[in-house]
Amino acid sequence: MPEGSGPMPLIHFIPKHCRQCGAPLELRRPEFEDRDRLVCPACGFIAYTNPLLVAGAVPEDRDGILLLRRGIEPARGSWTFPAGFVELGETVAEAAVRETREEIGVTIRITGLLGVYSYAETGVVTVVYRAKVEGGVPAVSREAEAVAKFSAGDIPWKEVAFRSTRDALKDWTARS
Ligand SMILES: [Zn+2]
Repeated sequence: MPEGSGPMPLIHFIPKHCRQCGAPLELRRPEFEDRDRLVCPACGFIAYTNPLLVAGAVPEDRDGILLLRRGIEPARGSWTFPAGFVELGETVAEAAVRETREEIGVTIRITGLLGVYSYAETGVVTVVYRAKVEGGVPAVSREAEAVAKFSAGDIPWKEVAFRSTRDALKDWTARS
């Protein structure tokens, strides 16, 4: 399978124990539900597992966009835009701004929604915004081993990190 086209591995934490009482969870079909769930036989708690929410931004900087080469797994060494998991206590847009600052050192202003990228097999929903670089100097970080500017014509399609990266950058190039 060529680089960048494979699904991201399912990264969910599947709990083994009840977070209410600590008893081992069992896979059961609760009454009124249409699928098996992780159920606590001791206290009845149901440990639902749902998709994780990722926020990203495509930072536009005059004649191009800033992409980073990932310095950590998964997909280490491939290119994407800043993105990361939304934390409790922040909005999706705030997470996109924060991740961009943390990963490539620039501050951005969100200018619109680029798209929502959802794939059943990965269990991740990625919300990607369009954004303008407002300040800061692009810099590497623990998560970004390189940062570079790309125009719509020179995006490294064969080295993009994830399916969501490819799909979002396709949408960006189609609209720019
Ligand atoms: Zn329990």
